[in-house]
Amino acid sequence: MEVITTQLEVLRQKFGSRLLENEPLARLTSARVGGPADALVTAESAVELAEIITFLWQNEISYFILGGGSNILVSDKGARDVVVVNHARAIRFNDTDDQPTVWVESGANFGALARQACARGLGGLEWAIGIPGTVGGAIVGNAGAHGADMASSLLLAEILQRNSTALSLGKVDSLKETWPVEKFEFRYRSSLLKRQPGYQAVLAAVMQLTHTSVEAAQNKATAFTEYRRRTQPPGATMGSMFKNPPGDFAGRLIESAGLKGLAVGDAEISSLHANFFVNRGQATASDIFNLIQIAQQTVIEKHGIRLELEIELVGDWN
Ligand SMILES: Cc1cc2nc3c(=O)[nH]c(=O)nc-3n(C[C@H](O)[C@H](O)[C@H](O)COP(=O)(O)OP(=O)(O)OC[C@H]3O[C@@H](n4cnc5c(N)ncnc54)[C@H](O)[C@@H]3O)c2cc1C
Repeated sequence: MEVITTQLEVLRQKFGSRLLENEPLARLTSARVGGPADALVTAESAVELAEIITFLWQNEISYFILGGGSNILVSDKGARDVVVVNHARAIRFNDTDDQPTVWVESGANFGALARQACARGLGGLEWAIGIPGTVGGAIVGNAGAHGADMASSLLLAEILQRNSTALSLGKVDSLKETWPVEKFEFRYRSSLLKRQPGYQAVLAAVMQLTHTSVEAAQNKATAFTEYRRRTQPPGATMGSMFKNPPGDFAGRLIESAGLKGLAVGDAEISSLHANFFVNRGQATASDIFNLIQIAQQTVIEKHGIRLELEIELVGDWN
């Protein structure tokens, strides 16, 4: 079902020319696949993001916040929920204290933030260099690499919390909350927000940094980048397709099931890293989805382990 006509009218009235209809989503995702969004609006700041989400809650219109689109697979049929693209990208370093921090809006690119920190001689985020996508997406998925993760870097975040009573009373200012890191209940590639979608939006975050030298930070970053180059395929992917099951690696299980290099249409299980599925150019979301099913089925048959998706399926899969 498309975004129903009455809702589209409400959206047109509110957003005017900022509302894009039938807007292709493939170019907004790292896998470069997926159909159009019935309705799409972009937030240019955290204030705008809060205003848009509040409006959608008030009008009971379902939505999806799109960060860098690097951890999702959008259906070929596209998305019926309103897509809210997050371009809130302001960054403010506080490097005068003994314990430096950075305040960042949730639509900032996480890898770029890490590179800026390194260039200022601030350490602590080197692990995030090479992770595409936004700070907001990294918080929701508790992104991690090289033995660190968001849970170990985040101090607190500014959150918009859905609250029916406050919404019905028009008390929209009370929707803004500050969450300390513990409140996110982070687990491996998961957070409270990921487990209950639609109830919170990440507006901004404060992350812990350390004083170091530019050279030390950049050396660490270069080593991590080199490691990625050696172990992960270039091109259009979603990063790791499946979570690692306890005590094992999804890539090892897929590889030992004999699936490296297997292709469906123009989608391929990477022969460099079997947990990466690559769009060779013309793949569809269905091609990738078929590969997901083949990998899950074969790994169950060969190893008796059910691989759980790390990426999120978005849009209309019926
Ligand atoms: C080449 C490559 C390498 C990768 N390497 C890694 C890695 O080393 N480690 C790792 O953990 N991941 C990795 N990933 C996966 C991905 O980059 C991360 O999960 C990233 O943090 C996702 O951020 P995003 O902005 O792209 O999120 P999206 O894919 O846009 O969204 C993911 C989810 O977060 C929600 N969301 C996004 N922003 C907000 C917000 N502001 N408020 C509320 N909800 C929000 C979305 O609605 C969605 O549910 C890799 C991906 C690629 C393509």
